[in-house]
Amino acid sequence: MALEAGREMARRIVERLQGAGHVAYWVGGCVRDQLMGLEPKDFDVATSARPEQVLSLFPRAQLVGASFGVVLHEAGVEIATFRSEGKYRDGRRPEEVRYETEAALDATRRDFTINAIFHDPIRNETIDFVGGRADLAAGVLRAIGDPHLRFNEDHLRLLRAVRFAARFGYAIETQTHSAMVEMAPLILKIAGERLHDEMRRILTGPNLDLAWKHLSETGLLREMLPEAKAGNRLTRLRGSVSVPLAWAALLEEVDDASPVYRRFRFSDEERHACADLLANEHQFRLLQQLPLSSLKRFLRRTHIADHLELHRATYGETEAYRFASQKLQDWGPEVLSPQPLIDGRDLIALGLAPGPRFSQILRQVEDAQLEGRIQSKTEALRLAVS
Ligand code: ATP
Ligand code: MG
Repeated sequence: MALEAGREMARRIVERLQGAGHVAYWVGGCVRDQLMGLEPKDFDVATSARPEQVLSLFPRAQLVGASFGVVLHEAGVEIATFRSEGKYRDGRRPEEVRYETEAALDATRRDFTINAIFHDPIRNETIDFVGGRADLAAGVLRAIGDPHLRFNEDHLRLLRAVRFAARFGYAIETQTHSAMVEMAPLILKIAGERLHDEMRRILTGPNLDLAWKHLSETGLLREMLPEAKAGNRLTRLRGSVSVPLAWAALLEEVDDASPVYRRFRFSDEERHACADLLANEHQFRLLQQLPLSSLKRFLRRTHIADHLELHRATYGETEAYRFASQKLQDWGPEVLSPQPLIDGRDLIALGLAPGPRFSQILRQVEDAQLEGRIQSKTEALRLAVS
């Protein structure tokens, strides 16, 4: 529904721009995805119209501050004026951006050939200045122009290359690949937030085996994460992989991961989740010997599925793994997190003074409940005063 709305909106925007005498096409990911037979996530429009001309045609649209000359329209469609870029500063941003009237110039400032194909939804025509369609047909990821220059301009493209190649199962064209190998050390110049964001996209995407292969073979992994071991369990993760799970897999046998969390600007939540996964790896060895209360406490962790998957990816479907999976199936939330028999108010009613002892007592009572030693409030109260 939302997507249909996006497509229809993007078609009408092009129609309107062309009607006003401008050149306008769909471009980038949406054209690429469509040619691959995939549903585009969102639609981008590129046009010869300048931002103020776009705004006068679409009064409800908004100029997006940071990205120069881009107008955000309804349904998330972005309308960007054709542009070429001047010299790059600091491996991130061009010093100047010139608006252009020709699509060909806009194509060559893009990163990879498969990302620079235009489509005219009105004439139903595809316009390709960079050989993107041939590369799509061959399954090749190729930088536009001189790959050295392109990775030197914007170092983040090194990781974008890995992301697209892994996602689509594409080979990286030879010269593009050698440039990546040569330029890999530049990745360290990218700010932690951007690294984290791009790695997040790679690690939560499909084909982690390919992502791992490209990251290793280009030397990007060694540069970014010298801590990571070879032959990584990352590639064995199945299903939809969370960010902390992927990172925990990468950080196998790393003694202290805190420098990594800092370098990659983890959020507190991600850091806690990842550290928790790594800290609890050894739990599986003891799982079958644990008291019932500890076992249940372990199995009711918010990210228990990630704990299990990390263990499976490391050791396979061990006895402990099957045991835990079975228990999770057998025990619903009412078994793992039953309604407490008593709480702090009951302790006050018993004449106990509130204090740190409270949580200790309540924990002991809950242990007894989880182990099936007590079932009723009366038993819980008796235990509390004992
Ligand atoms: P996705 O489906 O992951 O969003 P996408 O191709 O739409 O893929 P975006 O990051 O949304 O990727 O960027 C949109 C388009 O802008 C790209 O297809 C590419 O043409 C261009 N682009 C984006 N980032 C860069 C970059 N760092 N260097 C050059 N061109 C870029
Ligand atoms: Mg996109």
